Amino acid sequence: MATKTGLYAPKPMAASRPEVRALAAPGRELPSGLSYRVEAVTGHGHGRHRAPVHPGRYVVLVDGESPWATARPEECLDTTDQGVWIADGAVQVCLSCGLDCT
Ligand SMILES: [Zn+2]
Repeated sequence: MATKTGLYAPKPMAASRPEVRALAAPGRELPSGLSYRVEAVTGHGHGRHRAPVHPGRYVVLVDGESPWATARPEECLDTTDQGVWIADGAVQVCLSCGLDCT
């Protein structure tokens, strides 16, 4: 998958926003390079497309950054409900906002 190169690229030692990286994965381990953004998600989708999200679902970050087009799941315009598997099938995310939907 196209994201593989970025996921396994060497990372600089300087740690930015350590509060983001401190979160343990809910119930399972994330592959190296992936982490969760510690921020409660209240729903997925914008306006009338808003759908509830299970507690403990977070946005997946790649190398501590959000590569997703949509800043927050609450603003996500993707209504297909089709996630994409990243990191060799380790986790499934919304391709627009990065919400973990494994
Ligand atoms: Zn989304």
